[in-house]
Amino acid sequence: MRVAVIGAGAAGLATARVLRDAGHQPHIFEQGVRLGGIWAYEPRVEDDLLGLNPKKPVYSSIYDNLRTNLPSDLMAYPDYPFDERGGGQSDWPRYPHHSHVLTYLENFARDFNLESLVSFAARVTSVVPNDGGWQLEVDRQGAVEVYDFDAVAVCNGHFSRPRVPEIPGADQYSGMQLHSHNYRRPEIFAGKRVAVLGTGASGADIVQELKPHVTSLLWCGFSEANAPRGRLRQLPLPNELTATGLSFGSDSIAADVILYCTGYLYDFPFLDAALVDVQDNHVAPLYRDILPPDWPTLGLIGLPFLVVPFPLYEMQAKWFVATLSGRLRLPPPATMRAEIEVETNALLRDGVAPRHLHRLGARQDDYYNRLARECGEPDLIPEFGELARAAQASRQRNPAGFRDERLAITLPRRG
Ligand code: FAD
Repeated sequence: MRVAVIGAGAAGLATARVLRDAGHQPHIFEQGVRLGGIWAYEPRVEDDLLGLNPKKPVYSSIYDNLRTNLPSDLMAYPDYPFDERGGGQSDWPRYPHHSHVLTYLENFARDFNLESLVSFAARVTSVVPNDGGWQLEVDRQGAVEVYDFDAVAVCNGHFSRPRVPEIPGADQYSGMQLHSHNYRRPEIFAGKRVAVLGTGASGADIVQELKPHVTSLLWCGFSEANAPRGRLRQLPLPNELTATGLSFGSDSIAADVILYCTGYLYDFPFLDAALVDVQDNHVAPLYRDILPPDWPTLGLIGLPFLVVPFPLYEMQAKWFVATLSGRLRLPPPATMRAEIEVETNALLRDGVAPRHLHRLGARQDDYYNRLARECGEPDLIPEFGELARAAQASRQRNPAGFRDERLAITLPRRG
């Protein structure tokens, strides 16, 4: 099959490799001028620091000092390690700098001959069903090109379009407001009173970076207020913003900067909502979180979050490609739809918010193994889950220093 792959990040590269190994003809369209997706660091920030309506959008959300928050042996594609047997070097730290991850992905593309499959500066603007296949419109620096494919793998990432919650009074606030998408270095906040909103991975990391530089640091998003530690105060989200800061009912706290570490939105501007729709950041309907039951030659690779992304994306690609190759027979659309409904309703009944339905967390091993079994691949090795849990415990215990802690578990070497 001729298969279009949208995006040359970790998901698109893995998918192209799997497609080609299975005898298909992938072609990758990448809107940027280099591969690596989010790992292609961009020092420039947007004119709209909240990233809601920038004149010249910046793709990458990576900041200057970022080191991975996963150990590299866990993070790697399973048969391509982060040392010199794969795409890296043995003297890199176990939690490598973002530039190392980019080198690793570039080496992956080189070693598996994927570079020649990529069209750069090629932004897919439309994907429509056409005569049993798909027609793509691609913007090549102003010139529109049209292509026909048998199948499409959407690997366009979901850490680039900021999610900024609406807080009453935000328009009156006179200080600086920015989203972590446009955060690069802590030094520019020296001597400032900074409020960070959001307690996810970026919030936790950026708070550690800012601590030595700022005058005061307010970290909001906790279920209740915690005792202040030094310059750091932890509070729930504010009720509203005022001209000079944040208001928590009877308490008001002044801040020069409000930094939103409040996550990102799924965005498929090239897909009609009749194919897949996004409501409250839930992408539906998708069987196995990958394909719409009525359009099984359209695969979305890389949606789940709170996961170990590279191995999981590769397994999603293997599963999707097995369906294209006919090695895995999908149930009829009505059966897939019914299964999606049962599984979604069970999660909603368990109290999962719609916007967290793609958050796998503790469910990721089961999800991976289900895909693996369905497409005839081996299960995750037990050490994988053990290392993931050990790394998470270390991160929670020592948010400032976990990257330099020794983890007792290592994954057995393959190959
Ligand atoms: P991306 O890397 O976002 O790539 C998508 C590609 O699609 C981009 O190159 C983009 O230009 C292209 N594209 C988008 N739309 C179009 C279009 N219309 N036409 C053509 N091309 C298009 N993961 C880890 O494993 N370890 C970490 O430590 C880690 N830290 C992270 C820290 C931050 C701050 C962020 C934001 C993410 C982090 N991640 C981490 C997650 C990371 O995003 C994934 O590991 C992974 O790189 C995502 O790959 P992807 O291919 O799905 O998306």
